[in-house]
Amino acid sequence: MIRKQLAGIQTTMTSSDVPMIESLGAPDSQFHSLRFGFENTYARLPQRFSAQLAPTPVAAPHLVKLNVELARSLGIDPDALMSTQGVDILAGNRVAEGSEPIALAYAGHQFGHFVPQLGDGRAILLGEVMGRDGVRYDIQLKGSGPTPFSRRGDGRAALGPVLREYIVSEAMAALGVPTTRGLAAVITGERVLREIALPGAIFTRIAASHLRVGTFEYFAARGDTEGTRILADYAIFRHYPEAAHAKRPYRTLLDAVITCQARLIARWILIGFIHGVMNTDNTSISGETIDYGPCAFMEAYDPATVFSSIDVNGRYAYGNQPRIALWNLTRLAEALLPVLQQEEGNDEAALASANEALATFSHTFEHFRLAGFRRKLGLLSEREGDLALVQDLLDRMANNGADFTLTFRKLCNAAASPESDKDVRSLFTDPETYDLWAIGWRLRQKEESVSGVDRAESMRKVNPAFIPRNHLVEGAINAAVERQDFQPFEELLDITSRPYDDKPGQERYSSPASPEESVTQTFCGT
Ligand code: AMP
Ligand code: MG
Repeated sequence: MIRKQLAGIQTTMTSSDVPMIESLGAPDSQFHSLRFGFENTYARLPQRFSAQLAPTPVAAPHLVKLNVELARSLGIDPDALMSTQGVDILAGNRVAEGSEPIALAYAGHQFGHFVPQLGDGRAILLGEVMGRDGVRYDIQLKGSGPTPFSRRGDGRAALGPVLREYIVSEAMAALGVPTTRGLAAVITGERVLREIALPGAIFTRIAASHLRVGTFEYFAARGDTEGTRILADYAIFRHYPEAAHAKRPYRTLLDAVITCQARLIARWILIGFIHGVMNTDNTSISGETIDYGPCAFMEAYDPATVFSSIDVNGRYAYGNQPRIALWNLTRLAEALLPVLQQEEGNDEAALASANEALATFSHTFEHFRLAGFRRKLGLLSEREGDLALVQDLLDRMANNGADFTLTFRKLCNAAASPESDKDVRSLFTDPETYDLWAIGWRLRQKEESVSGVDRAESMRKVNPAFIPRNHLVEGAINAAVERQDFQPFEELLDITSRPYDDKPGQERYSSPASPEESVTQTFCGT
């Protein structure tokens, strides 16, 4: 609930404090083979929305991964992207025709504390392209050198975090979760200094947009209502065009973001994903998962699971994610108050409108969560006791250290034949606890006239066999960083790109980490 307008937000920054850098000269005109077909709209917004600057060139770029299918879906020729010129563009050594590189301004609450200016400190938006699906996408380089928003950072990225973002974002896409995507990874031939010197890399990210809750906070914190309105109109144009025709467009925008975020967080919950750093600057307006830092997948089910080394209080723990999403959406609603006020006529009505919208989050989230768990249990209809049945299983899993992904995957076979119960029960420290739950599950199944085989089939489409388990991600990264061996990275990408297919002989990829392999902490790596 919002109590006071822009409670606690204070800033002395003004938009004129953000340094601007002159635009680059004309892009390379002899470069014809590679056409992105840029159609840039963000660069048309007022100057204070971004800083114009080109990426900083790197010493010796080398392409280590290109997402050929994704390139095609964006209408970009993958062969041209693999050419020297293409790699130069992906490395920031060349500005492509039609590209208008900019670093975006935004603010954000980090671990609950407001920072009035963050912005793209190591990322540059090259431009926007229309995908074959009719959706407009941002093409962004991450790790492309310092920008006016870099503060003390070097603007660079290390290879490890780049490969991590590539693996996990592509796995999320394959799992059907809204997410930014990885188009390419390039090594720079330069070292970046973290605790030690590490190989540098640049990640090419594709997103439906890079609008964040923090982008709205940036303008709200400056009292820039005109900026907020322009941004809200842009978000409507980009993501929720139907809102433009609504009676109350900005309230409709807020409702739409709340719904998309509720659905997104439910998807995370349903696959055991922990984002790890759900700051408002990492909360997208499009409802995509964005910014894969210390993210990780839970193995043994426990709602208190935290991997991020910096999340000492468990603010972003697995089970806390819905609450945090609502907290972040409340910051969005606060930032939108000035435009809601214009829509509603006065402050009080704007506040009431914002609170009314926020009040829907929990119900919407619970709806998506329960619907998802029903599908995971192969239940095709809705019954009163379903939530209790789900919760009972989860409690038993939590008390018995059952692996989240494997339990649901093994339940698919158990739905087809009780003989397969043995594979599920063995995941519980006390196998009988599963047997007791399964009695209720089978009774519930009897209320539906679906064959076991069909039920199992439907369950296999929503319960993945393969997720990017932390020890596998870590292993793939280490091989690439320490031995320049990208084979494990390729293999993991391949396995996780078809997460719902059984792959006999690939148990190494579906099994939880052994105690020696187990990875209990992840790092931002910035
Ligand atoms: P992130 O943790 O990636 O969401 O980043 C939070 C903020 O820190 C954003 O404003 C980033 O652009 C900035 N940032 C992170 N790493 C660097 C870096 N190496 N150089 C400059 N800015 C950075
Ligand atoms: Mg971020």
